[in-house]
Amino acid sequence: MLSNLATRDVETVLHPYTNLSTHRQIGPLVLERGEGVHVYDTEGRPYIEGMSGLWCTALGYSNAELVEAARAQMARLPFTHLFSGRSHDPGIELAETLKELMPVPTSKIFFTSSGSEANDTQVKLTWYYNNALGRRNKKKIIARQKGYHGVTVASASMTGLAANHADWDLPLPGFLHVSAAHHYRGAEPGESEEAYSARLAAELEETILREGPDTVAAFIAEPVMGAGGAIVPPRGYFSAIQAVLAKYEVRFIADEVICGFGRLGTWFGSEALGARPDSISFAKALTSAYMPLGGVSIDEPLYEALVGQSEKIGTFGHGTTYSGHPVAAAVALKAIEIYRRDRIIEGAAEKAPQFQRRLSALAGHDLVGEAGGIGLIGGLEIVADKATKRQYDPKTGVAARCVAFAQGEGLIVRALAGDRVAVCPPLIIAPDEIDALFDRLGRALDRTRDWIR
Ligand code: PLP
Repeated sequence: MLSNLATRDVETVLHPYTNLSTHRQIGPLVLERGEGVHVYDTEGRPYIEGMSGLWCTALGYSNAELVEAARAQMARLPFTHLFSGRSHDPGIELAETLKELMPVPTSKIFFTSSGSEANDTQVKLTWYYNNALGRRNKKKIIARQKGYHGVTVASASMTGLAANHADWDLPLPGFLHVSAAHHYRGAEPGESEEAYSARLAAELEETILREGPDTVAAFIAEPVMGAGGAIVPPRGYFSAIQAVLAKYEVRFIADEVICGFGRLGTWFGSEALGARPDSISFAKALTSAYMPLGGVSIDEPLYEALVGQSEKIGTFGHGTTYSGHPVAAAVALKAIEIYRRDRIIEGAAEKAPQFQRRLSALAGHDLVGEAGGIGLIGGLEIVADKATKRQYDPKTGVAARCVAFAQGEGLIVRALAGDRVAVCPPLIIAPDEIDALFDRLGRALDRTRDWIR
């Protein structure tokens, strides 16, 4: 029996990323409030939010300073925009702060309201830039299978997951996908991480040569793949890939929507993994998700080309009403102040060994083929046979079942394609909460084993 609220939900809300058919029977999990790393449902049951919502609430759920920053800005100036040269002080100060923090040469910051919009902006800027340079054929974008870059038309075209393409008439022409960088699944038996990275770089080079280097404009990658399975690239991956990109003048875009702002124990994931992108997309933890805000870093050559385009066309014809919303910008400034003052990112690095030790230990479980990550993010893969890595029939829905058992244990984690389960708690999680999280996940795996065997 669904509760009254659940019934009203089923009758009225079209849910993103939900099996709309089973949702009619199961109904929603309605959450009411949050405190620290916990969220509470309408019955008052607590859950450790082991996914930080959607990889985003880095500062947890009851940060009064973020609330006050939003309130104060709302009271002072709830909205103004950045169109036609209009500006506001939180936007200016945030752009200055982000310029300082960016691990890549950055001239300007362009703000969006989401990660999808940030990546759509990257595609449009790449096309516009190459037109400005007279490289009218250099437009193709290479992304990776299992990559996740969002759901707007260009972002979904870069995303490399079946559910984002099947019957959506996507990807658009000109969007290509090379192999995911997943050693457990992609490497040959006995192939080292370095040799596997070299093979992936060779595949990228073959793709560029096959398409024609003068037609390939950009390559996009998440430092750690999130929605594709919480997958850390093999050693040497980014240095091998970057050598190829540089050879053919292919722009490198790092999608740091999950990894940015401390997830890997560094400000940006690129720093932890030796990536040197031309531009970074960011969102999520920038505001700890208390307000929607994202953006992209703009390097000086790109900026100069954009100025030239304005001289020719008359304006920079891109932007949305909420680009750089002042309340979101004020919250982001406060979040960054807290990250710095409270050593949140150093703290994430200090807690990472415990987190990764507990996660890796799950690889000893009968159902788990691979478990691991970096910083405070990681994933595990459920397999039917550990020796052969054989998977369960996808119809079994074994990862979804494990996640449901975890929910019963008071833990929210996320099932991803390929029977993977992701863990990505708020960066403020305490050591005893890390232990509680993995105790609960271990019990959920036990219950899954008892259910399936
Ligand atoms: N890029 C990455 C790496 C993401 O994980 C996400 C969302 O999960 C996006 C882009 C899209 O962001 P949004 O959902 O804010 O549009």
